[in-house]
Amino acid sequence: MKCNCISDLNKKMAEHYREKLGVAVDVECQNTAFILVENGMETRLTTGFKLTAQAKGFVKGKVIPVTGNYCPFCGVAVVNIPAKPATEAA
Ligand SMILES: [Zn+2]
Repeated sequence: MKCNCISDLNKKMAEHYREKLGVAVDVECQNTAFILVENGMETRLTTGFKLTAQAKGFVKGKVIPVTGNYCPFCGVAVVNIPAKPATEAA
């Protein structure tokens, strides 16, 4: 991610539940994955899609993680999006 939304949310939720429960709370987003990129690895938010088919490994369903191109919290692109060519006014 090119933003800090996940770590910020982890901190905000830990503080919110610490106040609510009266004890220290550890928070860790469960829908993240490490993705190989040009300069190393990045953490990306994932959404699981369950595939079911009459094929080996898919009969009971197999969850495939999918990542988005934009952060769902702040809208910042998490991948390099090629610029669109300018359109001419008619
Ligand atoms: Zn964000």
